[in-house]
Amino acid sequence: MRPRAVLFDCDGVLADSEMVVNALVAEQLTALGWPMTAAEARNAFLGLALPDMVPHIEARVGPLAPGWAEEMSILIAREMARRTPAVPGAAEAVRRVVAAGIPVAVASNSGRVELAAKMRALGLAPVFAGRIFSFEDVDRPKPYPDIYLAAAAACDAAPQDCVVVEDSVPGVRAGVAAGCRVLGFAHETPRGVLAAHGAEPFGSMDELGGLLGL
Ligand SMILES: [Mg+2]
Repeated sequence: MRPRAVLFDCDGVLADSEMVVNALVAEQLTALGWPMTAAEARNAFLGLALPDMVPHIEARVGPLAPGWAEEMSILIAREMARRTPAVPGAAEAVRRVVAAGIPVAVASNSGRVELAAKMRALGLAPVFAGRIFSFEDVDRPKPYPDIYLAAAAACDAAPQDCVVVEDSVPGVRAGVAAGCRVLGFAHETPRGVLAAHGAEPFGSMDELGGLLGL
């Protein structure tokens, strides 16, 4: 059955930004005295909003400077404005959903400024205009359902009639908690892990239209 709306995660689904962000995080944490590689940063923090990373980091390196998360977000936004790698086939998949007359929204654990920079860099800002949700727009970030409930409401759709497209465990949990059908793009996280949290895994953006019944 065709969904009433399709709600997209950004990082790892539309933007292949995780490794750029992980490299920045790894560089910052190494400088703070917690040496790590980009791959280790991914394993530690994939899908988490920056404020949710802070307690893990402080447990390791001691108190961070006030405003550390905000400064990190600005740094990431600057880098994303410079270069946001696209997930192959993702923008085309979004446009295909729109062409079928189905509303789309983006729901991300990124900061608002950072998310806007990514949407502009990907050329998707007009496609998602008015339906771009950062964790800063809701009370609680993923894995809580708040952001997907807000995105579904913005599309005038009941959550159970929406499909969420996610790539991380916190994101899949958020979509499932909201009551949506969740498709898990197995890009950074293995299929089995996404499926264990309630997603239907898939491996290529070319499959998305078929999975949505388009
Ligand atoms: Mg993601």
